[in-house]
Amino acid sequence: QKRNPHEPEFQQAVHEVLESIAPVLEEHPQFEGAGILERIVEPERQIMFRVPWVDDTGRLQVNRGYRVQFSSVLGPYKGGLRFHPSVNLSIIKFLGFEQIFKNALTGQGIGGAKGGSDFDPHGRSDAEVMRFCQSFMSELYRHLGEHTDVPAGDIGVGAREIGYLFGQYRKITNRHESGMFTGKGVQWGGAEVRTEATGYGAVFFVEAMLAVHGETLAGRRVGVSGSGNVALYAMEKARQLGALPVTASDSSGYVVDDAGIDLGLLREIKEVRRGRIAEYVEHRTSARFVPGERPWNVPMDVAIPSATQNELDAADAEALIANGVRAVAEGANMPSTPEAVAAFQDAGVLFGPGKAVNAGGVATSALEMSQNASRQRWNFPDSERRLHEIMLGVHDASFEAARRYGHEGDYVVGANCAGFERVAHAMLAQGVI
Ligand code: NDP
Repeated sequence: QKRNPHEPEFQQAVHEVLESIAPVLEEHPQFEGAGILERIVEPERQIMFRVPWVDDTGRLQVNRGYRVQFSSVLGPYKGGLRFHPSVNLSIIKFLGFEQIFKNALTGQGIGGAKGGSDFDPHGRSDAEVMRFCQSFMSELYRHLGEHTDVPAGDIGVGAREIGYLFGQYRKITNRHESGMFTGKGVQWGGAEVRTEATGYGAVFFVEAMLAVHGETLAGRRVGVSGSGNVALYAMEKARQLGALPVTASDSSGYVVDDAGIDLGLLREIKEVRRGRIAEYVEHRTSARFVPGERPWNVPMDVAIPSATQNELDAADAEALIANGVRAVAEGANMPSTPEAVAAFQDAGVLFGPGKAVNAGGVATSALEMSQNASRQRWNFPDSERRLHEIMLGVHDASFEAARRYGHEGDYVVGANCAGFERVAHAMLAQGVI
């Protein structure tokens, strides 16, 4: 705390991990002796840079760019880029820190990093977004590479932004280095299922948590927040498995549709028109829009918060519990406050933390890297099958670690211990560097 006084999100993420790994440290005293904790909370490198660009009116704009390369002990740095006005060093560090353990949990040999900018793509023309991305990459390119650091998308960075970023990297370096970015278009090196992976993976994780108790998703009401990449595909997979997605949201409020969210309509509004969620109710009589609020008062069996950090607090958790929620799975990174997590666990609600639940995105990114390296292309069903297997592996690793350390059913402890163990053993083996 003394070293990072103005970084509340980073402190929150570190606190959650350190609090739950005590049993690992007891079993492996050599980790403390080797200073694993002191080293792991300090990024290997953090880069901050100026991003100047000119808007459509001819005015100069200056944003700030970030890349925090947290740990490369298991593989090249890997983690998304976020473009959102709230981005600051604390947020990028919390995301990068979480990414280390998430990536370790996938078992795929990828390190942890995160980056982004306080640039807000909302309301910007395509040409402005392109100029911003080109300026951003004009600095960042020197820190990237398929064996060094491989970014992907996150909030505000989707197919359009990845295209512009990749194009600029290719131009500056004179290299069509497919493996230096994931989430690329499927026509130019992208992997099938990468777009769907985080949302689909979150639902596979819910299925696995329910299966431990002999339950399924069929017939359940699923409440999702957000209406971006993760949210849309969580809803799509939930529907395919016989559940009914009933909510969606953005930063202006939420919609509830008791007939089930119309995914085609939502996608058209958010991805094609780049509009606001309120437009949804103009086309659906079964839906209503609630401005300025989050969807957690709506009765639901399964909640999948998929917008942003700290979007579900203790009062929201109490409302969900009062309405009989059975499972909560974090599609977003750290969407639940620590008090909300404690409330769910005390009430016996199945709770899956983001670093396990949303690991399907980065896991499929690693599959994209494999395909790029071997010049292969796997088809959709094959890629989805691999994603499913990986998510079952992430679930089982978390479940088993929790049981081994005497916290059966606690996926927070399980995911943190399983991820940390893998990273700590590698750090120990590679010496003090
Ligand atoms: P998108 O940009 O596609 O969508 C984000 C959604 O969340 C939008 O509906 C957005 O609404 C809403 N949102 C963003 N910030 C806020 C805020 N401060 N308050 C309220 N609503 C907000 O992002 P993704 O779907 O890619 O990411 C969502 C979450 O999932 C993030 O936490 C991300 O880190 C995490 N994640 C994403 C992965 C991926 O593969 N994409 C992988 C693993 C985790 P609006 O349009 O109004 O801003």
